[in-house]
Amino acid sequence: MIQISPDSIADRFMRYVQVDTQSDPTSTAHPSSEKQKDLGKILHRELLGLGITDATTDEFGYVYATIPSNSDKKNIPAICFCAHVDTAPDCSGTNVKPIHYRYYDGNDIVLPDDNTQVLSIANSPYLKEHINHGIITASGVTLLGADDKSGVAAIMEAAVFFMQNPAVKHGDIKILFTPDEEVGQGTAKVDMQKLGAQFGYTLDGGEAGSLEDETFSADAAVITINGVIVHPGYAKDKLVNALKLAGAVLDALPKNEWSPETTEKKQGFVHPTAVNGIAEKVVAQFPGATMEYAQHEQYRNMKEVLDRYPQVAAYAKEAIERAGLTVKIESIRGGTDGSRFSYIGMPCPNLFTGMQNIHSKLEWIGTKDMAKAAETIVHLSMIWEEKS
Ligand SMILES: [Zn+2]
Repeated sequence: MIQISPDSIADRFMRYVQVDTQSDPTSTAHPSSEKQKDLGKILHRELLGLGITDATTDEFGYVYATIPSNSDKKNIPAICFCAHVDTAPDCSGTNVKPIHYRYYDGNDIVLPDDNTQVLSIANSPYLKEHINHGIITASGVTLLGADDKSGVAAIMEAAVFFMQNPAVKHGDIKILFTPDEEVGQGTAKVDMQKLGAQFGYTLDGGEAGSLEDETFSADAAVITINGVIVHPGYAKDKLVNALKLAGAVLDALPKNEWSPETTEKKQGFVHPTAVNGIAEKVVAQFPGATMEYAQHEQYRNMKEVLDRYPQVAAYAKEAIERAGLTVKIESIRGGTDGSRFSYIGMPCPNLFTGMQNIHSKLEWIGTKDMAKAAETIVHLSMIWEEKS
């Protein structure tokens, strides 16, 4: 029986969340914020400390490491476990003060640094599953960072298990920690050759037992509207206000369908995210307004790739069951790094870690869920060895 202690993974997780690793959506650098490397350095050092001698960190903030195969079988695919070190720009990640409630009693929790922040079974029903078990929250003024330091902690705890239990057979296990997932750049600078994995799993999902093998496919579009700017005092019959045109374009978007606020599950949507007005081009004459539309691919549904390698999700299901959980197959109304990995040579569904209320001050996680995520990694590695 594979058993990982909720308390020991909790201690590890609490150390990691105190390192500020917020990514920066306004930056074009890789990583988008240097401070993400602070956690990378800690992880690199801890991997070396475990005896994982090939651990490396590159200038972009990616950490790579291998736990070499200890099996006589030569045909086992190398399997990657991946988590992101950055936290979301939506909510402060500075001076995170994690609080570990070792035996959650089911009552409301008023977060100490801002007593308007109250976590309760009413606003977070999944708490019910954690009564009499450990949960970890932030203190009220920051996010917790369970997204995705719970994934980081689960991978590290599984690594400790493998290094301490050499009798447990597995193939090559590739560990990858990435920066900038929250700003859509998690795979931008990854070196797939160096990683050298055939299949992968991100640990970046919610409720215990959940397995996400389907995402949206998304494109991004930039619409540039060129109005005609004339001094408003002389504007009659000449001015074409681009911002008003932008307003008309927004108003013409679908409202009762194709909109995130009116759709759910696998229904798609169009989602405007920003309107910027720039008033620097002065067009004195009246050439008329023009509009440009540029569209680019963001990511594609991972399921199209995963369906060609059914063993990837099937083994994950079996591992979740061996960890004593019920499998919940889910689809994501968005994309993951796994969507991109799946299209650059590494089919990669997403596994649970337990994270809840992500990107907010009410973020929390149950410690038994994190321990189960680490156990699932161990079982999954064993299954790939058994079935190869
Ligand atoms: Zn995440």
